[in-house]
Amino acid sequence: MTREWYDQGCAVLRLPPLRDPYSPAQRRAHLPAWLTPAHMATTASRDKITAWVDAGSPVTDAAAIARRFLCQGSVWAASLFKNHLLGGQVPPPASWYVIERTATLTVGRECKGQCIPSPSGRFRRILQVDDSDDAADVLSVWLHECAHAVLLPEPVPLDELEEVAYYGVLGVVAAEAAGADMQAIHRRAVLDESQAARLAREWGAIGFAADPEFTAEGPALAEARARAALGEP
Ligand SMILES: [Zn+2]
Repeated sequence: MTREWYDQGCAVLRLPPLRDPYSPAQRRAHLPAWLTPAHMATTASRDKITAWVDAGSPVTDAAAIARRFLCQGSVWAASLFKNHLLGGQVPPPASWYVIERTATLTVGRECKGQCIPSPSGRFRRILQVDDSDDAADVLSVWLHECAHAVLLPEPVPLDELEEVAYYGVLGVVAAEAAGADMQAIHRRAVLDESQAARLAREWGAIGFAADPEFTAEGPALAEARARAALGEP
């Protein structure tokens, strides 16, 4: 663990750093094992960890999940997600954000997963997850969407959105028509996907949702599907 990384971890957790001299192992032991570079990959994810500390480091236990975690759609998928949150692989600041600021909605089988802004209120994101009958697949896609929610900045609520051009799969096509910098949008999308896959893998996701190279192709595949649906080349 580098000194820079350690100092950043201490700052994020509002922990006073150890006083010199100390070894890399002591530095590592001073910070919780769940605090990894993947979890601190973005300003937004670091801010969310600090917000959790400032809230008193709440624990996401069975009572908190029952009271605060909104998951609509498949009952089977809901219990899968709740049990995974209770299993402890998703670190406390992330599981707290997921139950406090996201709502999960399971939908039909072709959408795979999406992390979209919520209309307003307590929930900042709606995590759309394809409700297939493969538990590992459903759980992994959900963890990937949870990772997006933690890594991305807080979205503008949908009801305050002035332009929809940049949102969703069809939004990419609309953004191009509006003269947006498409290369910048593509670079951003590829980075978002690879960061989410790395973090989801740490939380127990497997397969494509945890594969940074596969998910980095996702935006281009989604765009190609949208163009094909519109009859564009
Ligand atoms: Zn993704």
